[in-house]
Amino acid sequence: MKVLVIGGGAREHALCRSLSQDPVVTELHCAPGNAGIAQVATVHPVDQLDGGQVTELARRLAADLVVIGPEAPLVAGVAEPLRAAGFAVFGPSPEAARLEGSKAFAKEVMAGANVPTARSYVCTTPEEAAEALDAFGAPYVVKDDGLAAGKGVVVTSDREAALAHAAACGRVVIEEYLDGPEVSLFAITDGTTVLPLVPAQDFKRALDGDEGPNTGGMGAYSPLPWAPEGLVDEVLRTVLQPTVDELRRRGTPFSGLLYAGLALTSRGTRVIEFNARFGDPETQVVLARLRTPLAGVLLAAAEGTLDTLEPLRWEEGAAVTVVIASEGYPAAPRTGDPIEGLAEAESADGSVHVLHAGTRVGEDGQVLSAGGRVLSVTATGADLAEARTRAYRAVERITLKGSHHRTDIALEAARQ
Ligand code: AMP
Repeated sequence: MKVLVIGGGAREHALCRSLSQDPVVTELHCAPGNAGIAQVATVHPVDQLDGGQVTELARRLAADLVVIGPEAPLVAGVAEPLRAAGFAVFGPSPEAARLEGSKAFAKEVMAGANVPTARSYVCTTPEEAAEALDAFGAPYVVKDDGLAAGKGVVVTSDREAALAHAAACGRVVIEEYLDGPEVSLFAITDGTTVLPLVPAQDFKRALDGDEGPNTGGMGAYSPLPWAPEGLVDEVLRTVLQPTVDELRRRGTPFSGLLYAGLALTSRGTRVIEFNARFGDPETQVVLARLRTPLAGVLLAAAEGTLDTLEPLRWEEGAAVTVVIASEGYPAAPRTGDPIEGLAEAESADGSVHVLHAGTRVGEDGQVLSAGGRVLSVTATGADLAEARTRAYRAVERITLKGSHHRTDIALEAARQ
């Protein structure tokens, strides 16, 4: 199978790494990729938002499967010309990807499917916003209606700050505050059959102890020893399957990766958000635990034959990923610095692997930082404590001037 992956972050590196280990994959390509992806796939300098360019590349490579990683090309509709040209595509249509692209649309679908979520109002004027804030009370939750790379949400007890965010965004969703721990649960679906993956937890704040600004994600781990038994079955029954059924019923079936961000509140499980693609950095730990070869699963989703697959197989142990971010991330990331120690950080037995997010190869062949989140250092182990120790030992071997990382990824969970 010839596979083309679209994207160039650590999520796509994780996808490419798993695909490269699948014996049915004879050729692996990625566009645009990054310095790490280039070690396992042939990379192509293509604008990932340009459906014409991507389709042309898929044609030239005679790809049997195209996997679209990030939200931006999905929402931009890059899947459409590919499908029209007859390619098998893993990733939803732009209509179905609105589940991520518009918070208001996601709320509408959830209401139609009876999926438990926070009560909310869509607001477009300062007056509406003020009224909604006062209806729910503090802490206030204000979400930009459009795509904001995980940074469009403000949770604050400061009413003025909540109002200011609403004014800056224009159209917002204001909703009730959900207490309780968060869980990310991914499911692969072909629009009818839904295959949940294993739950993971990510860390969105920049600093230890969940302090500092929101980021794209600073680390993740799986499994969740504290999660209630039967959680996956419950979420499949009450969230994932009804949502997939509702989108099919509306004539916009969702095929690809449905990501449910959940809060386990005192009043039950609630959806915080949906995404229309693999989450980053949770993908790094979920795929590190997946034993079933990946290409066949993604192809079955693209071709509508997921019901014929054997159940997915998982490693018994645990996985932890720690993100190394560049100086100044998330506000003003510094780029262009050399990264040392990459080879030393990886273990020969594969229990530690370093996934690249924002990297590129410099003129002299040196790997340079090229983004806010630079690396995702991923380790597996018999349990979370072992995976964590291995991940942090590897992090210490890597040097990047001014870089920072959280030191408490999976810390509490590993103690349980
Ligand atoms: P989102 O982009 O919707 O995932 O929101 C980003 C983060 O904001 C989430 O991971 C939560 O930590 C927080 N958040 C979003 N919605 C709520 C809510 N209704 N109550 C509490 N926290 C929330």
